[in-house]
Amino acid sequence: MCGACYGACPSARDNAAYLGPHAMVKALRFLEDTRDGTGEERLSLAASDDGVFRCHSVFNCQTVCPQELDPSAAIARIRRRSLGSRLKPKPARHAPAKDAKP
Ligand code: SF4
Repeated sequence: MCGACYGACPSARDNAAYLGPHAMVKALRFLEDTRDGTGEERLSLAASDDGVFRCHSVFNCQTVCPQELDPSAAIARIRRRSLGSRLKPKPARHAPAKDAKP
């Protein structure tokens, strides 16, 4: 980790608690790894108050990364995953009996 993205990111500059661009690249790497068993916990950390929603989409991280990683794209993907999981229908608390008549 070189830290160039943190140096270029106004959200990281203004909020020391923000997890930052490189952390989101790493988080996405594990979120998309089917062998990783901590998906929900990891997603909830990455989308916490200090996570992806702190990003203001300035895209400086994408511009300065010497490894040509794309933290902005990682952040967008994590946001989509988080919103998708929040919109997923919850299972009914009391499912009707299978033989119940309408
Ligand atoms: S994402 Fe790129 S700019 Fe940011 S720390 Fe990693 S290598 Fe450096």
